[in-house]
Amino acid sequence: MSRAYNFSAGPAALPEAVLRQVQAELLEWQGERASVMEVSHRGQAFIDCAAETERDLRELMGISDDYSVLFLQGGATTLAALLPMNLAGPEQTGDYLLTGHWGEKALENAKPLLKTRVVASDKDGGYKRIPARSTWQLSEDAAFFHYTPNETIHGVEFHDIPDVGATPLVADFSSSILSRRVDVSRFGVIYAGAQKNLGPSGLTIAIVRKDLLGKHGRNLPPIFELQNQSKNDSMFNTPATFSWYVVGLVLKWLKAQGGAAAMETQNRRKSELLYSAIDGSGGYYRNDVEPSARSWMNVPFFLPNAELDKPFLKEAEAAGLLGLKGHRALGGMRASIYNAMPVSGVESLVGFMGDFAKRHG
Ligand code: PMP
Repeated sequence: MSRAYNFSAGPAALPEAVLRQVQAELLEWQGERASVMEVSHRGQAFIDCAAETERDLRELMGISDDYSVLFLQGGATTLAALLPMNLAGPEQTGDYLLTGHWGEKALENAKPLLKTRVVASDKDGGYKRIPARSTWQLSEDAAFFHYTPNETIHGVEFHDIPDVGATPLVADFSSSILSRRVDVSRFGVIYAGAQKNLGPSGLTIAIVRKDLLGKHGRNLPPIFELQNQSKNDSMFNTPATFSWYVVGLVLKWLKAQGGAAAMETQNRRKSELLYSAIDGSGGYYRNDVEPSARSWMNVPFFLPNAELDKPFLKEAEAAGLLGLKGHRALGGMRASIYNAMPVSGVESLVGFMGDFAKRHG
């Protein structure tokens, strides 16, 4: 058996070169005579590794010194609660734009903490499009505007950055961070769980404009106060050292590939290949998202009937194509084609889909 193409939504495929490097230095890391998992986060070797990872992320994303880059735990879900706590007081309002499941979850986590307003939602439409900007009902004095640039389950992605005036944008980039170029200076906060485009689970990145922190007026437990992580280089308590180290390797790999610009070109190409195969299948395969909002990272698609799902998945696995089962909320299939998925993986999937349609048409 050999490694297959892995279309899992997350935890997701990592570059093979990164896994090989982890394997090669697992027992003895950086002359430490121990694994990276076994040394103190306060030791010089790990401090250097951590700092280099932050430098590489700043370089890859063009993050200025106006922002803190935090390496946290708890996943994007925890950040969906920690951020409202840190950005606003209980009497302030957070605006939420809902374009899928994860925006809804973020809102649920914010509701106990402050006033919230749903500025627009496509829930009734089944989350297949981004509500027209002219329909958004923004609060006059929102402390922040939260949205999900890429909805991992529904496959709905923004291909530009929304304009909400001076209100700080808070964006959950879990499934699209570093998949293309992004002007970080347009955001108040960018946050992302690592387990899709950056590395293993366990690490959550938050890129926070420094002037937004510490103004909430709440009496927070010190561990929930993001300023404490900011002032302590994300080592207010023990960080997820192994995940942090692997993310560092993934960032080196990304730099060697040509960074966000190169990923953008490749991701555009991969998504075009897959959507053309779906749209060109004579109706055999179907993706319901409005073309202008189709995701480059997560492509949900359906077969002519749900009875074909099982044979599709079984035959796909036999052909070396893993993780294609759709999220239970939507059913059908979903191909997640993050940075680590090569063009050849998508070509292989498209070939299989054509062949399957012929045999089961
Ligand atoms: N937001 C988005 C866009 C996601 O895709 C996910 C995970 N699939 C989450 C939030 C939740 O992330 P976590 O499990 O790291 O809390």
